Amino acid sequence: MTAPFPIAPDAHHGLSVHEVVLLLETDPSRGLSDAVAQERLARFGPNTLPAPTGSAVLSTILRQFHHPLIYVLLLAAVVTASLHEFVDAAVISGVVLVNAVVGFIQETRAEAALDSLRAMVRTEATVVRGGHARVLESDALVPGDLVMVEAGDKVPADVRLLRESELRVDESALTGESAPVDKCEVVLPEATPVADRRNMAYSGTLVTAGSGTGVVVATGSETEIGEIHRLVGAADVLATPLTAKLAWFSKVLTIAILGLAGATFALGLARRQDAVETFTAAIALAVGAIPEGLPAAVTITLAIGVARMAKRRAVVRRLPAVETLGSTTVICADKTGTLTENQMTVRRIWTPDQAVEVTGSGYVPEGDLLGADGQRLSPDGNAALRWALLAGAVCNDATVRFDGERWTATGDPTEAAMVVVAAKAGLAADADHGFRRIAQIPFSSERQYMATLHTTPEHRTVVLVKGAVERVTEMCDTAMGADGALRPLDRRAVTAAADCLTAEGLRVLACGMRPAEDSARLSEDQLAGAVTLTGLQAMLDPPRAAASAAVAACRSAGIAVKMITGDHAGTATAIAHSVGLLEAASREGAVLTGADLAALPDDDVPATVERARVFARVTPEQKLRLVQGLQFMGHVVAMTGDGVNDAPALRQASIGVAMGRSGTEVAKDAADVVLTDDDFATIEAAVEEGRGVFDNLTKFIAWTLPTNVGEGLVILVAIGLGAVLPILPTQILWINMTTAVALGLTLAFEPKEAGIMTRPPRDPREPLLTRSLVGRIALVSSLLVAGSWWLFEWELGHGATLPEARTAALNVFVVVEGFYLFSCRSLTRSAWRIGLFSNTWLVVGVLVQALAQILVTYLPAMNSVFQTAPLDADGWARIFAIALVVMSVVAVQKRLGQRKAC
Ligand code: ATP
Repeated sequence: MTAPFPIAPDAHHGLSVHEVVLLLETDPSRGLSDAVAQERLARFGPNTLPAPTGSAVLSTILRQFHHPLIYVLLLAAVVTASLHEFVDAAVISGVVLVNAVVGFIQETRAEAALDSLRAMVRTEATVVRGGHARVLESDALVPGDLVMVEAGDKVPADVRLLRESELRVDESALTGESAPVDKCEVVLPEATPVADRRNMAYSGTLVTAGSGTGVVVATGSETEIGEIHRLVGAADVLATPLTAKLAWFSKVLTIAILGLAGATFALGLARRQDAVETFTAAIALAVGAIPEGLPAAVTITLAIGVARMAKRRAVVRRLPAVETLGSTTVICADKTGTLTENQMTVRRIWTPDQAVEVTGSGYVPEGDLLGADGQRLSPDGNAALRWALLAGAVCNDATVRFDGERWTATGDPTEAAMVVVAAKAGLAADADHGFRRIAQIPFSSERQYMATLHTTPEHRTVVLVKGAVERVTEMCDTAMGADGALRPLDRRAVTAAADCLTAEGLRVLACGMRPAEDSARLSEDQLAGAVTLTGLQAMLDPPRAAASAAVAACRSAGIAVKMITGDHAGTATAIAHSVGLLEAASREGAVLTGADLAALPDDDVPATVERARVFARVTPEQKLRLVQGLQFMGHVVAMTGDGVNDAPALRQASIGVAMGRSGTEVAKDAADVVLTDDDFATIEAAVEEGRGVFDNLTKFIAWTLPTNVGEGLVILVAIGLGAVLPILPTQILWINMTTAVALGLTLAFEPKEAGIMTRPPRDPREPLLTRSLVGRIALVSSLLVAGSWWLFEWELGHGATLPEARTAALNVFVVVEGFYLFSCRSLTRSAWRIGLFSNTWLVVGVLVQALAQILVTYLPAMNSVFQTAPLDADGWARIFAIALVVMSVVAVQKRLGQRKAC
């Protein structure tokens, strides 16, 4: 794309704000008009990074051949061809090709799926167009757009800053420098390098503090990050700890197989067997023993896992999370919005003179304020109530609107609830109740309160405060009576009232006010000891319907659930009881507050946090300490978070889980998994899927390895004994090529087993091949060798020709593999208990394989390529009899294994 305007898109830092605005033909306060924005969108294209280029596709193709196992196969094909064994060479090449094609298709599909999943977690941008601020998807931005960013946002395009307030940006995505950079509005020399351009904010970087407004100077591939993307290409390789383990495993296996093949060849030569024949046999051993399907099976299984999680509203951002989820031992979940609905309704108001009940529910501003005797109250008769309602509704950034169908809230639900209750009390909601805001101290989780400075309709100046009861009462020395008179604050009465309300699970906020003589600024020290308490507002945030069941499911799966909240300990405890996270008679130390945590010596933290279930009034910094403590105790920790300051804890956690709806871009960026519905039950579902993924991988390994070992062993034993080969190299290749695709891969689609959430989490240190798996592999491979060998000899002994006997042995392998596939559908339970048709892919795969066997046995053309011969019904009966015997022995071993486990 060409530069949008007559200046390179990376030179705007050297211009003044005025020049930039002129150059980009925009308005620094009203932004672009919709029409101009549309025209520019058509001209410059959407603000997205380009799709992978041809070279990325080529590298995906090449990657399919970049595998030690495949190198061996390729070498074998070349050597076989040079020996004029063209059929063998063609079949070996066929195996490599089929593998590469399956691998390529799967990898491209998996990556496309991952990309579209990532796109589900979209970045939004606040843009001013035609003088109005609105939230748009960042794709729609064009050069010249006026964008606003604040703490927690991802910068949506390359922006020249016009205004900023304490703006700090984490530019590590671009520069690798992890310390956030302070931004300011200055003109810089043209030669300033990107990392030092303090008047610019770059696409993809994260705002960690403050706010700013700027003009978009470059979008899409013209941005700095777009440039990097173009140079590096999409380097997203599907790698996880498991694939790393498997890669290592393949390497060791390849070396072992090559050693064995070499030994076989040497042995054959020593016995003066035909060199070419021995060589092809050695190659057959190598090819037979190599589990070619393994890399494709891993990719497919992981990709299916990711897709299943997405269906259940958990979007995986980093693939290793799919596996780690399955070994999670502790989930630390936020309360508000995760365990509860985050739909607040004020139910009670307490003023120093009166207790008030509020009726109505949700954001519909219909309901009454009732006194103790049930009579309707008006704020006109109670000054404290009026100021409490005003502080709640005016020191507030939320809006509640009727959108033609229903009442909806924008902004913080806690604040929306306070807008609604003021409306129920009949206080006019338009234009901030006539209060003009002059200055503010915004709410933050650390500060736990919000304060605003206003001029009232009567032209007086007041400060309004609302926030956590402890924080607001700290600032108060006086309380307001119903008549508006001030009196000394009775702290015990306030605390008792707040305790009563929190014990019911209500979230309680205190409201206060203070007259401020003509002040134009607002600072924290103006508040200390100078505020008058007007009342408490208590709101209900109902637990999510599915939370109790999900908490119970986690606990029966051996996963501890802990609640972490910025809310009061009383409210947190009540909600914890209602979702089954705390028993009625909980042990001491089950509920800890941030203050308790701060007072703990470092050495005591791990054991104490492991014991506790509820952490209240916790700051984001303490979350990090909590995760580290739990990890010190050996836990695999999933931790939820939504704010900018949660990012370190999300990164530290074994699985960082961000909230898709309420979470900031910074939190999403730091997380491994994003919940698109913010619901705790989704984390439980993702853990369940994670366990399923690992199960399916183990099942594939349990299925493929005995087959490969068995095939290798048949050749090894034959050469060792100097006997005729019961299966020819080309026949082994046939088995491998067809069964890996038609049978093995179908295990990736296996549904989760019942009871997957009633067993303890998997130990991540557990080796890939557990002792029981090694036992199973040894047993099945020996049975395969014995069965095929016995039938081969029997057929020869009863007058069959060599091709007939070999065809029988070949079919023993395939039929046993087919039966064993059903057994592998559960690692512990018997094959018959699972339901024969619960995995349609598997049924289809078996039918395809059956057809392939019929062709290779009866089709004359295939008979001559693979040196097979038709079998009669008796022959098939013997094959199936052997398969049944093998399956019975495996079933007995499974049963014995189960008993031992009990
Ligand atoms: P979590 O999601 O961790 O459960 P939370 O919503 O309970 O978080 P915070 O948002 O950190 O916790 O709020 C902490 C306390 O600050 C609340 O208990 C409440 O008293 C107060 N508070 C919450 N929202 C506001 C707000 N918008 N204005 C003023 N005070 C608030």
